Amino acid sequence: MPRVDLLQALGARIVQRERDGLLRRLRAIEAARGSRVLVDARELLNFCSNDYLGLAQHPDVIAALQHAANEFGVGAASAHLVSGHHREHAMLEEELADWTLRERALLFSSGWLANLGAMQALLDRDGVCVQDKLNHASLLDAAKLAGCALKRYQHADVESAARQLASADDAPALLATDGVFSMDGDVAPLRELAALCARKNAALMIDDAHGLGVLGDDGAGSAADAGLTQGDAPVLMATLGKALGCAGAFVAGRRELIYGLTQFARTFVYTTAMPPALAAATRAALRIARNENWRREKLRKLIARFRVGAQQLDLPLTASRTPIQPLVLGDSTRVLHAAAALEERGILAAPIRPPSVPRGSARLRITLSAAHEEADVDGLLDALSGLQRA
Ligand SMILES: *Cc1c(COP(=O)(O)O)cnc(C)c1O
Repeated sequence: MPRVDLLQALGARIVQRERDGLLRRLRAIEAARGSRVLVDARELLNFCSNDYLGLAQHPDVIAALQHAANEFGVGAASAHLVSGHHREHAMLEEELADWTLRERALLFSSGWLANLGAMQALLDRDGVCVQDKLNHASLLDAAKLAGCALKRYQHADVESAARQLASADDAPALLATDGVFSMDGDVAPLRELAALCARKNAALMIDDAHGLGVLGDDGAGSAADAGLTQGDAPVLMATLGKALGCAGAFVAGRRELIYGLTQFARTFVYTTAMPPALAAATRAALRIARNENWRREKLRKLIARFRVGAQQLDLPLTASRTPIQPLVLGDSTRVLHAAAALEERGILAAPIRPPSVPRGSARLRITLSAAHEEADVDGLLDALSGLQRA
């Protein structure tokens, strides 16, 4: 048998993906102002950004980035443990720990790296990782790369999680869940999962990429919102590229956890530190996210307005109280057509298809932001009702 040519094989998979209506397309945003973006020289109202609090373009955040770049330069120029760790990183870590009511926090350059680093440090082939079926891809891949057993449970089903945990006997166990599910917007049953972990001596890990800044009284996230302490949810991970409008991620927890990650998280040790100017910008974003409650309040009102309007139009809403408000249409082609028709009407909404979501559950993933106005939401609803009539 001749050796298979890898690039030819990749080409064949692309052809198949196109046949299935699942081909993805990279599009360049030419300019961004608030919730408006310029794409193909047309201004569109953006309903697929994760900038939930409208901080990505906040003047204080931009000024902090510029000021720190003047002071430190652009890149960190080495890993944290070499000479890449700056004062801005250290202060951001302190402020993140303080916000999330944890002892310590450790920065990573992205959420992917944070999840992978934490799992590789905590788990090896003797361990087991129990995960919700709808967890983010980075959690699933992290467990695979950690080499532990991976057991997935039915979405948000605590009984199913208990069965998976029980089937792992006495193996050291980490139960990992999204706090807010990224494609559905629902919140995990965190209190019940924490109780299960306490009973079974497993550690609970929450990936709060979509909860931080959005849930909890001062935006401390889904764990705080559920009243879970550091003892209840000992491994807390969240990203800085969503509600905080910056980039990067962190893991927070007890001092011992953070020391351990500093030693053993390979994606922390062997990578260049995030730019110090970005840490400074994130500090500015954190201050606003924590203190300006009106942003969460405004967001809640916009979410409620959208849901009432969507119900009146009989649109297929999910049970979500977060800014993630997907409309599950099912068929990939239908979702592509809907996204294209919305774009005709000046609205950008992401068509999300398998394998990002399970087969038969393709959707328009609509996200709301404090950068939107009521009139924007009304415009979206108008456009959606236009689709129904078309
Ligand atoms: C976005 C996301 C990540 C990855 O974070 P990045 O910083 O974008 O790499 C991880 N988990 C969840 C749930 C996410 O939504």
